[in-house]
Amino acid sequence: MAVEKTLSIVKPNSTLDNNIGNIIAIFEKNGLRIAGAKLARLSKEKAEGFYIEHKERPFFGELVNFMTSGPVMLMVLEGENAVAKNRELMGATNPANALEGTIRKLYAKSVGENSVHGSDSAAAAEREIAYFFEKHEVVNRF
Ligand code: ATP
Ligand code: MG
Repeated sequence: MAVEKTLSIVKPNSTLDNNIGNIIAIFEKNGLRIAGAKLARLSKEKAEGFYIEHKERPFFGELVNFMTSGPVMLMVLEGENAVAKNRELMGATNPANALEGTIRKLYAKSVGENSVHGSDSAAAAEREIAYFFEKHEVVNRF
């Protein structure tokens, strides 16, 4: 299997709950390495652009408000099958449906305040990493 990169975001509910370290520990214990990381406060424009695919959804305004309500931890994760592995570790979008031991089961508050974002395909990962990171901010080990 190929080594991949994917974008992870620790969302404001979990940065404010001091769970950044607990979430990173789950990634590292499961074979994902951090290849880039920064704490940021997203502007409304940056958050809207990131979630543009959801523009017509009823929760779009709520989602943008939430994502700009506090700090986010932006990370590039790297590892074997990283896109799918990250999605598996995150758990279902709605924490009520997330499996035991997943990040969302452990730390999410609701379907909106659900602790983490993860790219859902290799193409999305490439686009999303480029949206938040300059080339020199991503460390290549291989
Ligand atoms: P993400 O894209 O953040 O990794 P996801 O791929 O599991 O999450 P999407 O369907 O892409 O879920 O939705 C993007 C985000 O929009 C969700 O993570 C959640 O924060 C928010 N969201 C989704 N559905 C709802 C909803 N019904 N009510 C409120 N917020 C929602
Ligand atoms: Mg998504």
